Amino acid sequence: MKDIKIRSTKREELIDITKKVEELVKGIKEGIVFLYVPHATAGITINENYDPNVNEDILEFLRRLIPAGKWKHDKVDNNADAHIKSSIIGVSQAVPVKEGKLLLGRWQSISLCEFDGPRERTIILKTIH
Ligand code: ZN
Repeated sequence: MKDIKIRSTKREELIDITKKVEELVKGIKEGIVFLYVPHATAGITINENYDPNVNEDILEFLRRLIPAGKWKHDKVDNNADAHIKSSIIGVSQAVPVKEGKLLLGRWQSISLCEFDGPRERTIILKTIH
């Protein structure tokens, strides 16, 4: 088991972690890397990051869908929107690995989704091979 630590710098952002994950699967001939975020207000997604507008669009879509400050949990913690976004995006992904490379599509990147930053986040990785 390995982990990656990331410090986010905004309340909401998508942070590309593809290169860091790639470093950790070097030497694996064939297998799967399972990624898991042990946080209730973060997530992990795989999508395009060649055009950074895709990440901005995902965040803007989630903001429109889940406005901040109107939920029961906001009376306790004022971050209900971040919890809902985390549940919708999900906290895990699995990526096939071959010859030490992630089998991502040409335009795909792995991104940590921060919904209640800035703070330090952990991504736990388990390779199965
Ligand atoms: Zn909360």
